[in-house]
Amino acid sequence: MLFDISDLAPGGVAIDATVPIPPFPWEGGQVVACDPARLSGQLRPTSRGVELRGRYGTKAHLVCDRCLTGFDLPLEGEFRLFLVAQVGAEGMDEFERRAEDDPDAVDLYPLEGDVVDLAEVLREQVDLALPYRAICREECPGFCPGCGADLTKKEPCRCAGRPTDDRWTELARLKAVLEQRKGGTPTEGR
Ligand SMILES: [Zn+2]
Ligand SMILES: [Zn+2]
Repeated sequence: MLFDISDLAPGGVAIDATVPIPPFPWEGGQVVACDPARLSGQLRPTSRGVELRGRYGTKAHLVCDRCLTGFDLPLEGEFRLFLVAQVGAEGMDEFERRAEDDPDAVDLYPLEGDVVDLAEVLREQVDLALPYRAICREECPGFCPGCGADLTKKEPCRCAGRPTDDRWTELARLKAVLEQRKGGTPTEGR
């Protein structure tokens, strides 16, 4: 969703929009799809650039690392960025020089031209807000590291009485992943 910031009123403008976020690649090879994000915020010209303050809410559709089941993770957050319009490669070089000298530059957001892509801004915010690992619930038992039994579905563990060997853990996990793939991705046709 594109927004032209070249002609803002000095008092700024309010944004209240539903912004679709394109699916993006994340840790561990999964692609994260999100519900369209609700965004409310404000764009206001300042001496550092155009200030974009916003509050968003969405739901990310993830696949649990332990049990490989799809689940939804509600996400919400607030952010504040200063959009800096750039023209061409020279403008971007100049921006990078400026950002290097400015310890507060983390909130500077370079634009190509004077158009901001709100979907891209939100995609970054969602990426930052995602947890380190996708786990459907803290106590998710996932698969037995010894025999690959699906403990989430109460499949009986077959390693009782047998010492577990760590070398099989990764194989069991891979086997489970492959079996799951054969059955289709759990997030499909949600
Ligand atoms: Zn799980
Ligand atoms: Zn087992």
